[in-house]
Parts: sequence; structure tokens; C-alpha cells
Amino acid sequence: RSQRRHARNVLQEFQEACSTPLPRLRQVVDAMAVEMHAGLVSEGGSRLKMLPTFVDRLPHGDEKGLYYAVDLGGTNFRVLRVQLGGKQGRVIKQEYEEVAIPPELMIGSSEELFDFIAKELSSFVAREGDGFRPVAGQSREIGFTFSFPVQQTALNSGTLLNWTKGFKVVDAIGQDVVAALQTCIRKRGHEMRIAALVNDTVGTLAGGRYWNEDVMIAVILGTGTNAAYVERAQAISKCGNVLPKSGQMVINMEWGNFWSSHLPRTQADEALDNETMNPGEQGFEKMISGMYLGDVVRRVLLKMAQEAALFGPNVPRKMLEAFSLGTPDMSKMHADESSDLKVVGNVLRDVYGIENTSLAVRKIVYEVCDTVAERGARLAAAGIVGILKKIGRDGTHSKWKVASEQNHVNGWEEVGSPVASECGKTVVAMDGGLYERYSKFRAYMQAAVVELLGDASKDVVVELSKDGSGIGAALLAASVSQNG
Ligand code: ADP
Ligand code: MG
Repeated sequence: RSQRRHARNVLQEFQEACSTPLPRLRQVVDAMAVEMHAGLVSEGGSRLKMLPTFVDRLPHGDEKGLYYAVDLGGTNFRVLRVQLGGKQGRVIKQEYEEVAIPPELMIGSSEELFDFIAKELSSFVAREGDGFRPVAGQSREIGFTFSFPVQQTALNSGTLLNWTKGFKVVDAIGQDVVAALQTCIRKRGHEMRIAALVNDTVGTLAGGRYWNEDVMIAVILGTGTNAAYVERAQAISKCGNVLPKSGQMVINMEWGNFWSSHLPRTQADEALDNETMNPGEQGFEKMISGMYLGDVVRRVLLKMAQEAALFGPNVPRKMLEAFSLGTPDMSKMHADESSDLKVVGNVLRDVYGIENTSLAVRKIVYEVCDTVAERGARLAAAGIVGILKKIGRDGTHSKWKVASEQNHVNGWEEVGSPVASECGKTVVAMDGGLYERYSKFRAYMQAAVVELLGDASKDVVVELSKDGSGIGAALLAASVSQNG
């Protein structure tokens, strides 16, 4: 049928616009490394904020005692407690609870949002049972994971720069989020202290390093996307000479806002961007992360419905609705291995009320999912390789050069001298529902890392560090309250 042919043409055009052949991917890698450098040299030097985190020491296993964490991500809110037993005992006991963030709080007032967090924390603390003992003479300390761009002034203070991921609590912008939460906790009569404010990427890095000292980079692929890594203090020129003693500092890249003319942007991406809470921002995130992938697919399907009547003479009404196709639905269709693409048909029926799709139509829908996932995964891989390149671990630096660069660093505690050629592996700690639950996305990403690194890929490991962001914040709270 000519309509199907038309839909196929739309598909082909979209695939071409999304394509990420190796040379193009390499340009994205290079752009990432260049932008990282620019963002470290001067404030506003790049769309990458490259935020200093004041984390100049990561947990290494000897932390002891009871610590709490609260984790405000994009979709879920989590509270947890952990009893740490030092090098031998490690994580003796751990408990957590998770609740969905009520949507009205995402666009309400600052006080409502922080009071919600304090309330959840308060009821969680009230249920502290056997096996959890605070450090004698110390109040319960909290690591606060807050996964939005914050300009920190110390490890336990920082002002919110802007919201992402559909949040819009206007009066919180410019506020010190630690002070705001601390006030709400005190109001509820708790003597708890927020010891560390950490981005989820930084929490994941800390959680990963606690178990594996080769962890240098953390990446989140969840509702949003972001990355953090260990940088040489001297490379952070915008900080002047307030360099940490350890010689290194974790940088929160806020890579969701990365942009480069080499990114394969389509009309669907432009239209999506216009309908978000933050148009013109988080361009990389909008091509990669869980909040947006399903909607890119929806927009392409909508175009096919409108221009080629792919789903019959009428455009399914609900398909006009932004975000009506979630990334979990997309990944469900994409995971369909049946010869008649039954699952694709079921999702189209359940989400859009489209009955009796032909196999040919389902194949087109499947292809759209595949195209969007592959592009996102390959771009995420290019981002990771960009970081590896920036820190000299992408295999292109000669060994002596890596060694001499690293020799400037003295005393990133107990890690020893992390000369790439000697320590061998570089580990990327990964967290987030998208990476964890979308297996084809994961496979595409891993394949692209190998494609980009070639031989050097044998020294790079991407490791799922599930829920690392919350426990990492607790570990950082422990680490600072015990060591400094
Ligand atoms: P957050 O990023 O809010 O901290 P998570 O890391 O748990 O939360 O990630 C949740 C996101 O992961 C969801 O918004 C969704 O986009 C994505 N996701 C969840 N389940 C799946 C799935 N089965 N397939 C693909 N993506 C998923
Ligand atoms: Mg999270």
C-alpha cells in the first residue's frame, strides 16, 4: 500500500537523521573532551557546567557507624540507612524505602517539597530497629542526594541553579537546598545533620569506589542523564588556587546540557524540546534519557499517523498527547522477540487503543524504537569515551605521558598512584533505571564503547552499581564526619 510506503519513507528519513556512524561518534567524543576542558577553565566557559563538588576524598571502606541518606531523583524519592562496620564488616545492615514523588510537588513550592522529604525521613527514622546504632555522642548524619545542578560552596551547602527533568519549583532556585531541608528536619524535632550534599552521579562514584578502587567515573542513565569523574585539582583552573590537599576533586559535569553541532538532531527532537519545561536546555539529555526517549518515538509515530495514515484513517487521539508513550513501553516493544511482534501490537492497543495492526505496521513501530534507542545509547557511549579521553584513559595516550601527568598528584588517599598502565582497569560505575532495565539500550551502549575504544576497551569496565547514589551519599557523610 502506498500509505505504508510513505511511512517507510518517513522512517528512512528519520533513520538517516539519527545515524551515528563511527566518524561522527568520534566527533562527539572530541567535542565532549573539549567542552569539559572549557568548562573547567572558566565559569560559563561551556554549556557543561563542570561543577566542583568539594568532594576531594572518596570513601575507602574503613567508615563506621550509622548513617542516613535521602535521595531526590527525578521520579522516585528514597530514604535509606546503613550500618557500616569498617574494613572488615563493611555494610553490616542496610534498609531503604522508596516512594514516587507526588507530581504536584514537582511544580509546587520549595517548602512543600522539602517538607515532604523531611516528613518521609522522619517516619523512616521513627522505625529504626535493631542492628542500627548511631556513633556514640554523635547525632545521626545524613547524606543528601539531590540530582539537579547545584553550585556548591562547601560539601554541605549549595544553591540550586536550575531545575531539570520536569521539576519547576520556582522559589527554590537560588536557595541553599541544604539549609532548606535542614530547616524542615529541625521543625519536625529531629537532631539530624546534613553532612554532605551530593549529586546522584557523585553518590554513585562514591558508592562504586567504596567497593572498587578502580572506579573513576560515574554515569546515570535514568529519568535524566549525567556524569561525574575524578579530576586533577590543577586542571580545575576556574577554582583559582583553593585546591584541595588531596590533589583531586570530583567534578559533576551536568552533561545532560552538553551540546555539539555534531549531535544528530531531528525535527522530532526540536518539537519535543519546545514542549518541555526547559526549552533550549539539556539537549544531550533529551536525546538519551528515560524521560524523553519514549516521547521521541511517539512523535515519529504521530508523524507517520498524520502523513501516512499508518494506524488507519484517524490519528489515535491519545497519540497527540505529549509523553503518552513512556520509555518503559518503548523498551517493552523493543524487547519483543516474537515472530509476529505480538507485544508491539499489545502495547499499541493498550496505550493508544489501536486494534488489529498488521505485522508490517508493527515492524515499522519496532524500527522506530530501535532507531531512537540506538542513537541514545551510542551518544551515551561517546560521552563516556569523551571523559576517558579527558583523563587520559582512552588508550591514545602513551604510557609515559599518562604516568607523568599522574605524578603531579600526590596522595589521593590510599588509591596509590593510579597510573593507567599499571592499575590496568578504569571502571565506570553506572546507575539508573534506563540502563538497568532496557537491555537493548545497554547492549548498544556497550558495543559502541568497544567500537570507539578498540583495543583499549579491554581496560575499561562499565559496572552496574545499583542504588549506588543513595548509599554513596551515606558513605560520603560517614567519610567526612570521620576524617575531616
Ligand atoms: P531517577 O532517575 O528518577 O532517580 P531511576 O534511576 O529509577 O530514577 O530511573 C527511572 C527511569 O528509568 C524512568 O523514568 C524510566 O524512564 C526509566 N525506566 C524505568 N523502567 C524502564 C524500563 N523497563 N525500560 C526502559 N526504561 C525504564
Ligand atoms: Mg536516581
